[in-house]
Amino acid sequence: MERTMQEITAAYSVQEQWAEMPMAEYIAGYRDFGRVRGYCRECSRYGNCWACPPYDFDETALPEGYAAISLLATVITPSEGVTLTPETADPIIRRERERLDRMLLKMEREAAVPAHTAMAFFAGTCLLCPPEHCTRREGRPCHHPESIRPSLEALGFDVARTTSGLFGIDLQWDSPDTPPAYLTLLSALACSGHSRF
Ligand code: SF4
Repeated sequence: MERTMQEITAAYSVQEQWAEMPMAEYIAGYRDFGRVRGYCRECSRYGNCWACPPYDFDETALPEGYAAISLLATVITPSEGVTLTPETADPIIRRERERLDRMLLKMEREAAVPAHTAMAFFAGTCLLCPPEHCTRREGRPCHHPESIRPSLEALGFDVARTTSGLFGIDLQWDSPDTPPAYLTLLSALACSGHSRF
């Protein structure tokens, strides 16, 4: 049964934490390109979504073009009486991704002052079209190229190591027996200057 926006809003609360560091430090401590890319290759969206690898640019060189990265951990905790199942979690994740992606694109625009560039990284794959309708499957151009961004994991960064090492948050994985107690979304903004502020 489809949930109303009010029901989705009442089903969870959100806590956010930011961490900032030089990009070179983040690359040295948290990128494990070969291993993480191996996980991407096992995903059905690999090569089937324009936001996902493989890319037509050098994704190992891309982060090195930025001086600093601001990482945002968003922890979603279900309200009392709500169990996180695919049915309850999917609309919550979609709603939070829409909010976060909008916010990050705005920050990206505002950070891109003269002589500086900025790039947002979203917390996962593209959610703008149903996966089976992504135009990459037919080799046609993306419907919304201005609104898609890669995720950190798509560029080889270890999300679990990032959330535990920088935020003290252990990722919880979905399992048939034990639903997760919370969900964590990791997004970021890279800047050619030193800070997002
Ligand atoms: S906006 Fe649509 S066409 Fe573009 S990457 Fe996302 S799903 Fe694919």
